[in-house]
Amino acid sequence: MGQKIQAVKGMNDLLPVAQKDFKLTAALWQAFEDVVASWTRSYGYRQIRTPIVEQTGLFVRSIGEETDVIGKEMYTFPDSNDKLSLSLRPEGTASCLRAVVEHNLLYNNPQKLWYMGPMFRRERPQKGRYRQFHQVGVEALGFEGPDVDAELISMSAELWNRLGIRQHLTLEINSLGNKQERAAHRTALVAYLQKHEAILDDDSKRRMHTNPLRVLDTKNPALQPMLKDVPRLIDFLGIESLNHYQTLKEMLDGLNIAYVENPRLVRGLDYYNQTVFEWTTDKLGAQATVCGGGRYNGLIEELGGKSAPSIGFALGIERLLLLVQEFGHLAVNDVPDIYVLHHGVGTSLTAMQQAALLRSAGLNLYVHCGDQTLKAQLRKADNSGAAFALIIGEQEQVNRTITLKNLRTHEQQTVEAESVLQLIQDWKNT
Ligand code: ATP
Ligand code: MG
Repeated sequence: MGQKIQAVKGMNDLLPVAQKDFKLTAALWQAFEDVVASWTRSYGYRQIRTPIVEQTGLFVRSIGEETDVIGKEMYTFPDSNDKLSLSLRPEGTASCLRAVVEHNLLYNNPQKLWYMGPMFRRERPQKGRYRQFHQVGVEALGFEGPDVDAELISMSAELWNRLGIRQHLTLEINSLGNKQERAAHRTALVAYLQKHEAILDDDSKRRMHTNPLRVLDTKNPALQPMLKDVPRLIDFLGIESLNHYQTLKEMLDGLNIAYVENPRLVRGLDYYNQTVFEWTTDKLGAQATVCGGGRYNGLIEELGGKSAPSIGFALGIERLLLLVQEFGHLAVNDVPDIYVLHHGVGTSLTAMQQAALLRSAGLNLYVHCGDQTLKAQLRKADNSGAAFALIIGEQEQVNRTITLKNLRTHEQQTVEAESVLQLIQDWKNT
């Protein structure tokens, strides 16, 4: 026997059944994907699917060199043929915009798009934090806002409604202003950080010069007191940015979406400006952020397209589903309606023929395969969760009849093969 090979650390299998340390099932996931498809459709957003691998430069340019994602989390490797550096995508916005620019989708047309799929970051794996994880992302490209900002945020809130977890999530919002406003704030921030240089950790010391806003994002508890009095970006915003932010807040009020203003919310990626927001929960321990997003007006131009103001968000599917599984509702349907048993010469073929007929009437059937006693098969039928068992034994085979058994009430009835669909429907309705 060869040695067993295990999955890569931090990368999960999605199985039909829950695992000890990873409780999400493929059926739950599938049910979630169905909800996402109808939820995005109900807002008129259309799907985009891009490759999982891109040129490394795409992510470096869009996400920013001084971020954790680019600095230490990306899976990067040379393409053997042409010395190109490639990376597994760590997030979806860069790829989405690359495709939009490449295919000129914004020509005369703003775009409302969504995507879903695996992302890769080499982080320390723990509950709610994995090396392959999955996101749903929504992007509104070519819209100035703030109306679309409000639409996107309320759209995310509506998804929480549909999943029954709205009351477990808190919306935090902030405005990062425009480039000039951030530059003025940056000067003040660097001066403030320099005053406290003695207590900064190495990461923060380095970032103080390369990207000081990111220091505000530090999780180092020792730095939290110092950060309390840090110059606030909001105090540097001009009239236009303030108006944008104010209108957004009024629209959220009008849409009945409660929010908390968090002046220190800056988000982990470099490309944001003006509106930023996060949905957090106190139910997942340290992995509190389920969804995050914001406006990135300069990014499309940065990637070689014609400038177009845009905004988007991404949610982490694993974190969201951990929450849904415990506190929400999501109808999972992975049990057959009917378990088909058979015993005796020629009955397995009859069973399959009968199952085919019932499938074309819209039923889901699990047909037993292999020889086993009826008793053993009935046990399996019980364990399958199916409501009914359909039994074809030698007697039924000869008489062209079928026995239907209600696995809940144990009621049993033998009828002509042609009448079995009617009987199933009668039983379903009682
Ligand atoms: P965090 O602060 O938790 O590291 P982030 O700011 O890096 O999150 P984003 O890049 O904004 O996350 O990604 C959006 C969402 O994707 C997050 O809110 C989270 O739900 C999810 N996510 C990010 N990284 C991971 C990961 N390693 N494992 C699972 N989910 C993740
Ligand atoms: Mg992160």
